[in-house]
Formats: sequence, C-alpha cells, structure tokens
Amino acid sequence: MSTVPNTSPLSQPKPETGWDEATFRCGLCGAVRTATTEDAYLRTVVAHQEAHEVAERLNAIERDGLASILRVVLAAPELGAEFLLLLDQQARATPAEPTPQQAAPAVDRVDTPRADLSSVNGAPRS
Ligand SMILES: [Zn+2]
Repeated sequence: MSTVPNTSPLSQPKPETGWDEATFRCGLCGAVRTATTEDAYLRTVVAHQEAHEVAERLNAIERDGLASILRVVLAAPELGAEFLLLLDQQARATPAEPTPQQAAPAVDRVDTPRADLSSVNGAPRS
C-alpha cells in the first residue's frame, strides 16, 4: 500500500475515510491496481484473487472462450442483458422437451441470469 502526496495537504479537506489512494500489488502475477476508498480497494483485491481462481480452474481453451465472451459482454453490457432476455423470452415461448443431459443443469442456467437481469433493467420491484 502506498499513498500519493496531496498537492496541498493543509488547504484541502481530507476525505472522511482518510484514504488518498491505496495500491495493491499481486504477488502471483505482478499486477498493480489502485483504489481511492477502502471499499473499492477490498473489491479490487477480491476480484483479482477470484480471477486467479477462475483462471486456474479452466484449461487454455476454456480460458480463451471465456475471455472472448467477456470482451464482447463488457464492451456492450446492454447486449449481454438483451441477449439473456431474448433467450428467456424464447424459452418461455417454446418450451422444449429437455434431453436427459440437459434436464437438471438447464434449470440452474436459466434461473441465475434472471435474478441478475432484474437489477440490470432497473425494473421496479414491488
Ligand atoms: Zn495476480
């Protein structure tokens, strides 16, 4: 953790958290990330550690595939949300008979994105 000097520390009020900037340096890959609040710092560190865990679980082909999907989705989050809505809409319109291989995991895959989409759309909750 390091701090960046404030240009005029005596004349400017300090943020309530007391943080100017914190730097995280990963001991595994050397990545450097900075954050200006404690909450942002913790989120940054946890996200980086979880990224390492995901990368370790996947083989090279899976990593490339996930990276390709994430690049598309992160470049246009609206596209990702609309794509999932479209698939859910189509699934409701034409309920297909699940094959024995699809039956159990299909429920999980459909239910998880729906919960996320309600907050993405900003739909009012009752
Ligand atoms: Zn790292």
